[in-house]
Amino acid sequence: MYLCEHCQQQIAANTPAYSITVQTRNATYPKRSQANWRYVKRQIKYFDDKGGEGFETVKNLTVCPSCYKQLS
Ligand SMILES: [Zn+2]
Repeated sequence: MYLCEHCQQQIAANTPAYSITVQTRNATYPKRSQANWRYVKRQIKYFDDKGGEGFETVKNLTVCPSCYKQLS
């Protein structure tokens, strides 16, 4: 039993809840030197992480199955 965050109705028990992402933001990750390690010929070797760009979730909604069909 849960409250749908889109239609604000109480949903009966044993009804699946869906999570949808409604807001994202751009994110830039800086380069990190020697962030990762791995065994190379039985010795630990360190590798740089390149960093990069991507998306981060700002807001998620828990919705009922009918709202999930409408919104997706
Ligand atoms: Zn709903």
